[in-house]
Amino acid sequence: MASEEAAGQLFAADALLPTGWARNVLLQWDPSGRFTHIEEGAAPPAGVLAAPGPLLPGMPNLHSHAFQRAFAGLTEYRARSQDSFWSWRDLMYRFAAHIAPESLEAIATWLYVEMLETGYTSVCEFHYLHHDPSGQPYADDAELAHALLRAARAAGIGLTLLPVLYQTSGFGGQAPRSAQARFIRSTDNMLSLLERLVPTTQAQGAVLGLAPHSLRAVPPDSLREAVAGITALNPQAPIHIHIAEQTQEVQDCIAWSGQRPVQWLLDHVPVDARWCLVHATHMKPFEYAAAARTGAVAGLCPSTEANLGDGLFDMQQWLAHAGAWGVGSDSHACVNAAEELMLLEYGQRLALRQRNVLASSAHTQVATATTLQAVAGGAQAAGRRIAGLAVGQQADMLALDAQHVALAGLDAERMLAAHVFASQRSSALHSLWVGGRPRVVAGRHDLHDKAAHAFVAARQATIAAD
Ligand SMILES: [Zn+2]
Repeated sequence: MASEEAAGQLFAADALLPTGWARNVLLQWDPSGRFTHIEEGAAPPAGVLAAPGPLLPGMPNLHSHAFQRAFAGLTEYRARSQDSFWSWRDLMYRFAAHIAPESLEAIATWLYVEMLETGYTSVCEFHYLHHDPSGQPYADDAELAHALLRAARAAGIGLTLLPVLYQTSGFGGQAPRSAQARFIRSTDNMLSLLERLVPTTQAQGAVLGLAPHSLRAVPPDSLREAVAGITALNPQAPIHIHIAEQTQEVQDCIAWSGQRPVQWLLDHVPVDARWCLVHATHMKPFEYAAAARTGAVAGLCPSTEANLGDGLFDMQQWLAHAGAWGVGSDSHACVNAAEELMLLEYGQRLALRQRNVLASSAHTQVATATTLQAVAGGAQAAGRRIAGLAVGQQADMLALDAQHVALAGLDAERMLAAHVFASQRSSALHSLWVGGRPRVVAGRHDLHDKAAHAFVAARQATIAAD
């Protein structure tokens, strides 16, 4: 590892800084991988590597359940007269029941390689598979968390680890189902797990947070205690929760409490900018306003939300309240940062029968506006210094290939638009760095073949165990 601990520099003829596009940019970082100097209008220095095309900030992936990558594509058939999120969830539980620790590590390693090759430089892992298939803790109670940490380290992706608190199968304290046995922890048990994970996560530069699974899976007292517990451990720790993804969940929450999920959460828990509201698909106008006011990030997963038939988040309302947002690949039916941005924009276009809905007043190009906003929101949700090409932030970045047929001859901003809307959305991605270390070169990660083989074997083993 020591050989990687070197300061570095890169010259980019075009770079997307937090303020917008800049020309002739020299970027320098220190041995810890943080930008120390970013200069616009620089002369290309001799002997300094030049980016092969427009330089972009690396995209944080704010929502991932790694094991589900091995299950993606396996539920695209009709199993009953009307399939739904809930029938998908039954199949997902069946698959989850057979995941062994070594399989999880292989699946996650390949997934993280894929993420790096498609523009994500870090990932928030919403980790709820805790115990063995019978629901018993492993000899090392953090076995599966450690598998994810090893996978992230091997691939070289930044990690925010969010162990999930899961206690009930429905609102009002309904007992968990047997299929949920691998997820269940008491609040005290969760807090001891978090304490145990502090040194391990710190050692690899990962951030540790907490994910109360959802209001249906965590009773109010547990939610308050767990939030107080993680806050005592680290007042800045990120807190992520699935919320208002499905209309059934909204109806159940109203039947239980008289309030909608987001409304209940904001009324009963001190939600602030540490929080990521994952999905938040079904909100009324007053909830959009109140949730945006807290400073929490909306965690949008357009490909998964489409795949599961969740519904559409109303971006125009959220942006009218200056709400922060980022993207996640969640169930990993799609693993591609640019594709999530494209699908997000397309969902709004289909709903509104308009075009270029997510352009901003500062950036009329949708790809520029959405990239900058998703990087800022994703960094906030990750609780890491990965908010783009700026001094003090980690050197997480990627370069497009200016010679790619979809991009060649265009100006930099149109190259990004072509990457998002008019290419295969990873074919023009040439190089990618995490903390200044090259992880993808000429479109390939070093571990590509090895990790792919191990993933296929792990998926076969999991299916065979069913
Ligand atoms: Zn999720």
